[in-house]
Amino acid sequence: MRRGPVQLLLVAAFAGGVGQALAEGWKVGTAKVNITPRQPIWLAGYASRKHPAEGTLHPLWAKALAIEDGSGRRAVIVTADVCAFSKVMYEAMYAQIQRRYGLERSQVAITCTHTHTGPVIRESLMACYPLDEEQAALIDTYSQEIEGTIVRAIGEALDRRAPAALWAGEGTAAFAVNRRNNREADVPRLLEQGAVLKGPNDHSLPVLAVRGEDGQLRAVLFGYACHATVLDTYRWSGDYPGFAQLALEKHHPEAMAMFWAGCGADQNPLPRRSVALCEKYGNMLAAGVEDVLRHPMRAVDPTLRTAFEFVTLDYERHPTVAELEATAKKEGLFGRWAKAMLGQVRAGKSFAKGYPYPVEAWQLGGEQLWIILGGEVVVDYGLRFKGTYGKGTWVTAYANDTMGYIPSRRVWEEGGYEATSLEEYGHPATRWAKDVEERVSAAVSRVVEAVGR
Ligand SMILES: [Zn+2]
Repeated sequence: MRRGPVQLLLVAAFAGGVGQALAEGWKVGTAKVNITPRQPIWLAGYASRKHPAEGTLHPLWAKALAIEDGSGRRAVIVTADVCAFSKVMYEAMYAQIQRRYGLERSQVAITCTHTHTGPVIRESLMACYPLDEEQAALIDTYSQEIEGTIVRAIGEALDRRAPAALWAGEGTAAFAVNRRNNREADVPRLLEQGAVLKGPNDHSLPVLAVRGEDGQLRAVLFGYACHATVLDTYRWSGDYPGFAQLALEKHHPEAMAMFWAGCGADQNPLPRRSVALCEKYGNMLAAGVEDVLRHPMRAVDPTLRTAFEFVTLDYERHPTVAELEATAKKEGLFGRWAKAMLGQVRAGKSFAKGYPYPVEAWQLGGEQLWIILGGEVVVDYGLRFKGTYGKGTWVTAYANDTMGYIPSRRVWEEGGYEATSLEEYGHPATRWAKDVEERVSAAVSRVVEAVGR
């Protein structure tokens, strides 16, 4: 049907009238803390770096949003300019959050933007970096400091809860490129020729707007399925998500902007490697968010349901001692990994059969389903869950525990980096068992059912 002026008027009336009443009834609080390391510690995400950080492009932030529905049910989401939170850090933070604020796991989502110009975090990707004892100690101290800082920020956000309305919508941004199916060196030429790059991709840009009783924007959360890997330098930055948040907060000084990473484990921002491109992609995201904010959004009625489970992902197989001894002779990442694994063998520890993978779902109001997954999840999952649960479904990855890549069956069968790199994260295996997608999807369907879909 053609959209005429009468219909447009009705949409506008819904957003400002009946919709407003439905969207209200929430209480929301925000808090943000600067987590830029004061010490020159190593930057996370690349095994090729040679030394610690040497300056700041822009500060790193951890931001907390606390929401409470009309019946007093609460949840908190944290976004942070961090490459990956390890299980050790997630558990340390969650234990404090549970004790101090009485929240269950399903009510907590600690996400990271996966910036590759953020700090190395304790027990995360340790085989990637040739750290000496001094660096390891600095990283340990820094990590424990920000655990406390983030937990306190959650407390502040909870304390600051005030009446608010929630609105949901989706825009688009088109800079994510499937890095498995397009050669990075070819991309600039292909884009210049106007060629269509090979997918799959997910260019959707989910937006959650929080408005106070006066209608003022107080917070805006948005996500995108693409690695934060424009920059690989030695200066702290939030990469393109950092620039996107800065642009939005500049335009809306009264509001806090928060970015979460979607299922973009096989997507890169291409072309890349300059601050100018990094800022350009950040501004593209910010413009996409502004566009969503300018148009009528879906009112989110004030009901919240949350569910969480750990599902075991099995390893395909453990390395043998002979394999580890051979690999331990190598330099770099694999040598360090094999030595660490042999250390476990010699200490009499047996390798785990699998790993507890965190899967979470939030249902906001009657319509908005938000699936929240751990790890570096490839794009197939985001597309699959939107297909199963509806186009407006949001899928956040890199949440709570980032323990490795989560390949789909397709990517697992194809092989390559995202299918076979568990060593980086210190697992006693190279890849997950073949049924990884089946297990994750079954767990997602259970938590989605538990939130009443
Ligand atoms: Zn990654």
